[in-house]
Amino acid sequence: MHRVVQLVDIENEILKLRLQGLNSDTDIRLWRGVGDLFKPKFDTHQTWQLTREQTPRVHWFNAVWFRGATPKYSVITWLAVHDRLATGARVQRWSPQTDAHCVLCSGHLETREHLYFSCSYSKKIWRDLTASLMGSRYTEVWSSILEILAENRRSSTDCFFSDMLSNALFIPYGEREMEENMEKLTRPRRLC
Ligand SMILES: [Zn+2]
Repeated sequence: MHRVVQLVDIENEILKLRLQGLNSDTDIRLWRGVGDLFKPKFDTHQTWQLTREQTPRVHWFNAVWFRGATPKYSVITWLAVHDRLATGARVQRWSPQTDAHCVLCSGHLETREHLYFSCSYSKKIWRDLTASLMGSRYTEVWSSILEILAENRRSSTDCFFSDMLSNALFIPYGEREMEENMEKLTRPRRLC
């Protein structure tokens, strides 16, 4: 017997149907699909479409999700767009005793903006990796970088360009994660 009332009701309905002739040939599992069509085969895409809350596509969609993108770079870029990276400033909001200084330079409050473009360490990485790639469009302004990435028209060249920029965006955060773990073991320590 189930403790959940709805499950008890469902079981009672099944029992009733069995008494009316339902047998193992007709009592089969069906998956709901688009248009309320029920099929025996499970379809991940259709189930995802039915269970998620659908909202209009954001203008920066192409900046993050594109053909040939490296998944871990896309996830970090996506978190950065939403300013949801576990930077010191954010972690300190729910854990006040946390040291919110940048672990890469130990000099400033570690926000998304600092981590990517104000920090002397990551600023150098960004410049060295992207200056020649971006040419006259070179920028260290987060919103401008996002706009450039969002221009991805999904050609091979655009996708390569976006993946390279995403890689450059990933490195400071990856370094930060590594450095934080190292710093826990070897405090005090400085990179620059
Ligand atoms: Zn820094």
